[in-house]
Amino acid sequence: MEKAIATSGRTRDIIRKHGFTFKKSLGQNFLINARVLDQIIEAADLDETKGALEVGPGIGSLTERLAKAAGKVTAVEIDRRLIPILQDVLDPYDNVSVVHGDVLKTDLRALWEERFAGLAGVSVVANLPYYVTTPIIMKLLEDRLPLDNIVVMVQKEVAVRMAAKPGGKDYGSLTVAVQYYCEPELVCIVPGSSFIPAPNVESAVIRLKRRRAPAVDVRDEDRFFRVVQASFAQRRKTLANNLTAFSGKERKGELAELLTACGVQPERRAETLSLQEFAAVYEALEKAGM
Ligand code: SAM
Repeated sequence: MEKAIATSGRTRDIIRKHGFTFKKSLGQNFLINARVLDQIIEAADLDETKGALEVGPGIGSLTERLAKAAGKVTAVEIDRRLIPILQDVLDPYDNVSVVHGDVLKTDLRALWEERFAGLAGVSVVANLPYYVTTPIIMKLLEDRLPLDNIVVMVQKEVAVRMAAKPGGKDYGSLTVAVQYYCEPELVCIVPGSSFIPAPNVESAVIRLKRRRAPAVDVRDEDRFFRVVQASFAQRRKTLANNLTAFSGKERKGELAELLTACGVQPERRAETLSLQEFAAVYEALEKAGM
């Protein structure tokens, strides 16, 4: 029986055997900590009736564990050089498909229909490339895929921002977007020594449990998120000052009255508003035609 891929010995052997060289530009830091993998797999809540989508399988350390935990696994990898390596190391598993491509350019709805039709649920599970963490998470959420969970390794700061509560510097438009769709839960903090090569930042595993319905009811999501973005445009400014982008300078007085009327003092800063308060502000702006 071969050793698990997620050990430094086997990872180094695979890299040597295939003459693989790391590309920093693709965020290639391979996980070699089996205990962290246990925590990721547990958080993903998989069984043989469920599927898993992995973004960036690398040399397959997490993919191997997913193959054992889920009924079906599809892994999308951008680096063509890794495809033959993955085919080699994952040969013992007949429930894994590897797709060569950029996840940001992949039609995930089509992939879902093709690979996961009929399964009891699907989780996205990944050790994400840090240079594109936010775009990947936003794509997974905005594509409105029928997924149960997103369990991802990200830079610790990003995990903290996604799980932040109102009132601090970590709370921002990413927090609001993630919490609109999901309930976040920090799973564990992971030191750089758990990867080859070791990144010089700490990482964290976060679980985003998809809500059955968004946290607040808004008619036009795009517009809601534009209001949120505008509210955070300059963090030191008050909400009223940031939102003049919507009202126009000439309606500034009216804007302040409208914020007060929906229970949000115009002098507050965006980082103090709950999702419900953002929804109330959005609705008030919409009603006033701003
Ligand atoms: N899952 C492996 C592990 O845990 O050891 C590798 C994780 S490594 C942090 C990120 C992986 O994502 C790399 O294999 C990289 O080539 C791949 N990747 C980077 N950008 C990508 C993209 N846009 N689409 C798909 N894969 C990507």
